[in-house]
Amino acid sequence: MNWKDFVYQEVIDHCNNTGSKTFSLQELLNAKLATFQAFKPENHHIKEKIRQQLQFLRNDNLLSFLDNSGNYTLLGVLLDDEKSETAAIDLTRETAERREYLVETYVRKAKWAKQAVELFGHHCLFHGCSNTFLREDGTSYIEVHHIIPLCQGGEDRLWNLSVLCAHHHRMAHFADISTRMTVEKILLNEVATRIER
Ligand SMILES: [Zn+2]
Ligand SMILES: [Zn+2]
Repeated sequence: MNWKDFVYQEVIDHCNNTGSKTFSLQELLNAKLATFQAFKPENHHIKEKIRQQLQFLRNDNLLSFLDNSGNYTLLGVLLDDEKSETAAIDLTRETAERREYLVETYVRKAKWAKQAVELFGHHCLFHGCSNTFLREDGTSYIEVHHIIPLCQGGEDRLWNLSVLCAHHHRMAHFADISTRMTVEKILLNEVATRIER
C-alpha cells in the first residue's frame, strides 16, 4: 500500500473513532503517530509526510480544508453510525447535496447529531419557529443540519451545526439560492450567539 492510501484509511478510522468528519493535523498525529511510524520506520519526517498526503487527498476531493481554522473535513464517506442508520436508503443514487440532507434527516446517534441537539435543544432555530410534533418516545421531532454543507466546505463542528423543523430543513436545502443564503446567514448568527453564551 502507498502512503496516500494508507493515510486515507487511517483518516477514516480516526473519524470513526471520534464520531466526527472534521479533524486537525495535530489531532490525527496525536491519535495515529505510532501507526504512521510503524508503516515506514525509516521515515523521520512523519508530520511533513502526513501533511503532504492530506494535501494529495484534498487534490483528489476526498478531503476539504478550511484555511481559517486549520481543520480538514472528510468528504463523500459515511461514518459507521451513519451507515447503519441510513442502511435502508440507497444513498449511492443521490447527489452529494441530497445525500447530505437524507443522512442528516435519518441519523440520530452520530456524535454531531447528539452534540447539536444537546446544545440547541428540540426547537427549530429559524426565527422562533415552533413547528414540531412528539415522537412515540415522547421527544420532540427535530432535524440536525450542517449550515454550510460538508460537500461545500462546511465542517463537522458546533459553529456549523443547527437544529431545524422538517419544513425549514427542506427550505435550507431546496429553496432558491437567495432564500438558502438568507437561511444560512440567520443560522450562522443564531448559532454563534448561542455558542458564546
Ligand atoms: Zn441539512
Ligand atoms: Zn422551523
